[in-house]
Amino acid sequence: MPKIRKNNKMNKNEIAYKKKLSEKIKELKKKRNAIIIAHNYQRDEIQEIADFTCDSLELARKATEVTADVIVFCGVHFMAESASILNPEKTVLLPVEESGCPLADMITLRNLKEKKAQFPDAAVVCYVNSSAEIKSESDISCTSSNAIEVVRSAPNKRVIFVPDKNLGKYVQRNVPEKEIILWEGYCPTHLRLTEEDVLAAKKQFPSAEFVAHPECKPEVLDMADHICSTAGMFKYTKASKTKEFIVGTEMGMLYKLKKENPDKLFHIPTSHLICANMKLTTLGWVAYSLENLVYEVKVPERIREKAKKTLERMLSVTTAAR
Ligand code: SF4
Repeated sequence: MPKIRKNNKMNKNEIAYKKKLSEKIKELKKKRNAIIIAHNYQRDEIQEIADFTCDSLELARKATEVTADVIVFCGVHFMAESASILNPEKTVLLPVEESGCPLADMITLRNLKEKKAQFPDAAVVCYVNSSAEIKSESDISCTSSNAIEVVRSAPNKRVIFVPDKNLGKYVQRNVPEKEIILWEGYCPTHLRLTEEDVLAAKKQFPSAEFVAHPECKPEVLDMADHICSTAGMFKYTKASKTKEFIVGTEMGMLYKLKKENPDKLFHIPTSHLICANMKLTTLGWVAYSLENLVYEVKVPERIREKAKKTLERMLSVTTAAR
């Protein structure tokens, strides 16, 4: 797990080094006609140089609107795959080849096919945190922002929801008219947040509201004042009259929350809320990626076509609901 500094202060040499790298990235971006998209869980310095920072749904949308030739995707593998699925003519780069998502790896195509054979009357809804192969075998995709409306939109009474069981349980609570068949997957980062952590944080910050991501355990969600996706957290905290929040998701969120709400306070309930895979991307790797045009993420055409339909169905449900 990456080390976290107690005080996030850099020394003079580090500041100069990062400044130099950021300038180099700017030049390379121009040379390659590239755009940098970063997920909200990326390191602060990556969010600083990104053209857009957003959640998985926005990432998918942005990828369809981009006019640049190259998209550098600062996130994990399935996100770069989604960009490539929607925009196959672009060069999509993932700066660190190994940055995968353990949740996405908790399901295989064979296991999904077996489950579908077991429940032939069920629709398959896959959380966007899944591989292109899994998307290609699903009926519709969803993100944590739109999972409830996507499941509601399915014509089938039964839904196989993959791969996150905690998000699936949260959806089941909100869509009781459907029978949801859960997958035994989970996000290891959100799973580390315990009820004890939340209790301790509430004791330390008694005026703060607790906002939690639906990938957290149901017991933790029961303690939340508000449950929402990362995009939902930005909207909710901005609109709220409350001045202090305990944030129940990956700590990278604090960067933009603080930036957008300088008059409010944000606390992370435990330093364990860190996704090691998201933190693999550094400025050095982004510069290397742009310089050498690596590591290109491309989805085989036969998988891409099917996965694209799954993503497009999700985008049309969400657009229709707006
Ligand atoms: Fe995967 Fe969880 Fe990390 Fe997101 S935070 S990339 S779901 S392991």
